[in-house]
Amino acid sequence: MADKDPLRTYRGKRDFDRTKEPRGRPGAGDEEPRFVVQIHDASTLHFDFRLQVGDVLKSWSVPKGPSIDPGDKRLAVPTEDHPLEYEEFEGVIPEGEYGGGTVIVWDHGTYRPLSHDRRGRPVPFEEALERGHVTFWLNGSKLRGEYALTRFRGGKDGGEGGGKGEAWLLVKAKDERAHTDGRATPDPRRARSVRSGRTLHQVAAESQGAVFDLLRLEGADTRSLPLRTRKSLLRRALTYRAPLRMTNHRNQGGAELLADACSRGWEGLIAKRANSRYRPGRSTDWLKLKCSLGQEFVIGGFTEPAGSRVGFGALLLGYYEGDRLRYAGKVGTGFDRRTLLGLRARLDELSTPEPPFADRVREVSARWVEPVLVAQVAFTEWTRDGMLRHPRFLGLRDDKPARNVVREGPAPLTEK
Ligand code: MN
Repeated sequence: MADKDPLRTYRGKRDFDRTKEPRGRPGAGDEEPRFVVQIHDASTLHFDFRLQVGDVLKSWSVPKGPSIDPGDKRLAVPTEDHPLEYEEFEGVIPEGEYGGGTVIVWDHGTYRPLSHDRRGRPVPFEEALERGHVTFWLNGSKLRGEYALTRFRGGKDGGEGGGKGEAWLLVKAKDERAHTDGRATPDPRRARSVRSGRTLHQVAAESQGAVFDLLRLEGADTRSLPLRTRKSLLRRALTYRAPLRMTNHRNQGGAELLADACSRGWEGLIAKRANSRYRPGRSTDWLKLKCSLGQEFVIGGFTEPAGSRVGFGALLLGYYEGDRLRYAGKVGTGFDRRTLLGLRARLDELSTPEPPFADRVREVSARWVEPVLVAQVAFTEWTRDGMLRHPRFLGLRDDKPARNVVREGPAPLTEK
């Protein structure tokens, strides 16, 4: 436990370009310590019982799972410390990777250390663990009440120097939460995730469907990068930028992941149907998930601000079709105060009395400008009458001449 990096073993066993399990980071100070019980359908089906101690989750593999019957003594074999975010991990670890198989979060919550010495004085939990006996009170959604973990083999004083031969017992204490009615242990195949309500089977089935890919990361086109690199980028982008929950979201299927990508201003994701045994020999197909399309538009005008708004209300956008600037609608979101004021100043310099658009623009407070500024805009789709749906301003494109801005078709996506 004096190890500088307690997660070294955990990280050493995993290739984070291949598994979506968290890499691990330092924990957050002084909240109540957490616990989690996961069901892990690996080479053998087992429960993983984890208690937060400092910045890591101390972990035991419990083949039969925790029981609420004090008469059950459950074998608990210590495994490597896991990062705190592992509490959120639910999904599929790829076959062939360490621990390959499906994981659901069966229960989680906080716990209160109860360990004390013979005189009734509290003992620090970590110290009690090293001595091989801890008692604690679980406040989970399913597990409640007092439990004890006791080392009965191996460990520092166990003659085998700890590590491999170490074995513990997880036992429910006799309290009002104890039951002996014969249904003291969950059936891991039927048990449901406390996070998502899903069974192991459901998580496995949903995760098999699609592997998500990244088209654009923060405006940079990643399409020319190899698939594996894109996946790795995507995974890192999500882990790095998102709050803890993301780890879980991206395992829960496309909709949430897509919504999240959109909220970050990404232009889209593509889903690749996993090559499964259902379709042997068929070519791989891609599914484009359009949270947003995106392209450049020429700014041909703007509307006056209303209410507490400053600068302008919306930009009037167009694209060239031959020599004609076609009107594509207006964008009124995606600006901060600084942009609104700064852009208004530039627009005023470009002011012109005649509308530059070939189409009629019905905006009462419209002001026209020389069509030279180019804006990058994300939107969900083109409407039937050629307008942008849900456009969002992403920034000015000083690198692109306005005359080169045309309406882009949906980019055909083919796997190279
Ligand atoms: Mn496990």
